[in-house]
Amino acid sequence: MNLDRAVGVLLGAAAGDALGVPYEYGSRPLPGPGEQAHMLGGGLGGYAPGQWSDDTEMACVIAEVAAAGADLRDEAALDRVAVGFLRWYADGPADIGMQTSAVLGPLHGTDEAGAAARMRARAAELHARTGRTAGNGSLMRTAPVALAHLGDPDAIAAAAHAVSGLTHHDPQAGEACVLWCLAIDHAVRTGELDVRVGLGRVGPGWSALLDEAECATPDRFAASNGWVVAALQGAWSAVVHGGGLQTGLQAAVRGGGDTDTVAAIAGALLGAAYGGSAVPGRWRRMLHGWPGLRSRDLTRLAILAAQRGRPDRDGWPSAPTLDTYPGSSRRVVPHPDDPGVLLGAVGALRPGVADAVVSLCRLGAEEAPRAGSRRATTSRCGSSTERTRTSTWRACWPTRRPS
Ligand SMILES: [Mg+2]
Repeated sequence: MNLDRAVGVLLGAAAGDALGVPYEYGSRPLPGPGEQAHMLGGGLGGYAPGQWSDDTEMACVIAEVAAAGADLRDEAALDRVAVGFLRWYADGPADIGMQTSAVLGPLHGTDEAGAAARMRARAAELHARTGRTAGNGSLMRTAPVALAHLGDPDAIAAAAHAVSGLTHHDPQAGEACVLWCLAIDHAVRTGELDVRVGLGRVGPGWSALLDEAECATPDRFAASNGWVVAALQGAWSAVVHGGGLQTGLQAAVRGGGDTDTVAAIAGALLGAAYGGSAVPGRWRRMLHGWPGLRSRDLTRLAILAAQRGRPDRDGWPSAPTLDTYPGSSRRVVPHPDDPGVLLGAVGALRPGVADAVVSLCRLGAEEAPRAGSRRATTSRCGSSTERTRTSTWRACWPTRRPS
């Protein structure tokens, strides 16, 4: 399995989300010709720069259940997802879709046992009363479903329907999730972008809708992209016309309307094809959000979900420390041009002692400092991809240091 592409599913979605937040529904003018969107924060929820919004917040709930190895078709797993959504709602999200709010609000305090059934019933009642439950709120969070069942299209289709149906009763919402998750699965496994791989599992109208998306730019769908169909069309248009992960996300945001959601949807598929390593480091360092996670946490969740909840034989990416480099030197030496900087290999690494880590090796979850702290890290293996500054290794170092 290509773990970089699995990681790209969550990092790409979060990057699109945070990139689109500032411009959501005209919160600020869209980037003009020749200008780039930036993770400026703000938007409808008053977010911090680099902070993701409800799209990724709800995706994290699903990802955490999947990362524990759950089969998302099981009612017990769906109960955990439902309770996770309610926990998120109780924490007072800064922004929430009207349809999702209408379903979750009355269920406050629901016990885990039977939570999914009560949520589905509430979603069905809302549909019966309004006839309008095809918002984009289940598509925006669906990406982890593909990770949980990579290589199993039957399971992906069933799980995508089930997780979507917790809050979105309209079949259009479920079919959009099926189509997108199967495209993500295909992209992770092959590196190819082809949203049509799932057409045999959805209604006959989708092929023409995809044709329309491919013949138009994302702004064509801006006026109605709160609707799941237009959101999927806008995202696919951005993927098709973008030509890469960054350019695709820029195209999604530039399309306007529900910018963070369309870019989050597009980002999950773009990341699946181009990999987490295609998400620029400057973006990965900025990304953060509920429930207190950063890029490295999304990396861990994606890997565990893709591996059915199982870390590798060394415990990566869950174990706090890894004892896999016994031959690596434990010594540190002063930098020849700056003796205040101590350099060491992975064998010398201890939790809590380094200000910065630049590593091509897999690292334990606690061996590298977190962005936002005084310490930081970057790693090519995806276990640690944040860096706030590259300064010194110092403090508590268990060997000599220059005076
Ligand atoms: Mg949002």
